[in-house]
Amino acid sequence: MQILDGIAVSTHIKAQLQTEVAAIKAAGGKVPHLAAVLVGNNPASEAYVGNKVRTCEELGFGSTLLRFDPLISEAMLLEEVEKLNANPDIDGILVQLPLPGHIDENSVINAIDPAKDVDGFHPISQGRMLLGQPTFLPATPYGIMLMLEHYDIDVSGKHCVVIGRSNIVGTPMTILMSRNTRPGNATVTLAHSRTKNLKELVLQADIIVAAIGKPRFVTADMVKEGAIVIDVGINRIDDATRKSGSRLVGDVDFDNVAPKCSYITPVPKGVGPMTICGLMKNTLKAAISRS
Ligand code: NDP
Repeated sequence: MQILDGIAVSTHIKAQLQTEVAAIKAAGGKVPHLAAVLVGNNPASEAYVGNKVRTCEELGFGSTLLRFDPLISEAMLLEEVEKLNANPDIDGILVQLPLPGHIDENSVINAIDPAKDVDGFHPISQGRMLLGQPTFLPATPYGIMLMLEHYDIDVSGKHCVVIGRSNIVGTPMTILMSRNTRPGNATVTLAHSRTKNLKELVLQADIIVAAIGKPRFVTADMVKEGAIVIDVGINRIDDATRKSGSRLVGDVDFDNVAPKCSYITPVPKGVGPMTICGLMKNTLKAAISRS
């Protein structure tokens, strides 16, 4: 069993990005600039946005963090997005989800200029991805594909079961896994809460992508020997042995599943750091294509 080490792979990719940005700077070009929009003070969102902004600094990207009161109206937030669209210094716009319930997330995502849609959530980005056209891939599925590529894991012809059908993880994952690229060419099944006989289905998988949001949902009896397991889930559970009283676990029961796997991503330090890599690669791409 080999651990797919998100820290090691992301460190490698970030070093490449750092070199590229230094070269752009040395040639007098414009460094990529990411604007992150954070509404409210959800602790998980704070942590995710903080990581993204820190990574920008680490790589030599510019970054702007815009914080808004949780009571901001949808109209005002849309105006702020418009300002970022019009600002020539900003290459990429990231709106941290979830947004407060009174704001329609789709309206906000749809308002982002597709040329600055570095999270890859805009319908134009998703449509281009579906058609195999150049675009910004959604950061998490993109990061997972970068990880598979880094470890030279051939998924061609393998059966991949993706559990979870969100627009930002599960559904795009099925598209990237099944398209005619390397990595790609997997045969894909998409499972969700209405799927019948989930255990029997997952037992057939050569590759399992778990994006459910339920701690340790995928148990050892659901996983066949030698499977590749990608755990996207981030769940905080109580843990009295920790100073903080809690810790993060994935959607996979790592301790019991790992011994059966050929490869597995841990949580934390698996898919999470790769998501940031996907975002940073998209931001550099946006800056280059806009210059
Ligand atoms: P969503 O809540 O949007 O989607 C969850 C999916 O899981 C839904 O499609 C749902 O089915 C399905 N599901 C729920 N219960 C079951 C069940 N019992 N059996 C089968 N399927 C089920 O989640 P996200 O895709 O946004 O996120 C998933 C997880 O990944 C979360 O823990 C999130 O925090 C994490 N995440 C991690 C990232 C990273 O960088 N590592 C990035 C983004 C997310 P249905 O559609 O039928 O309701």
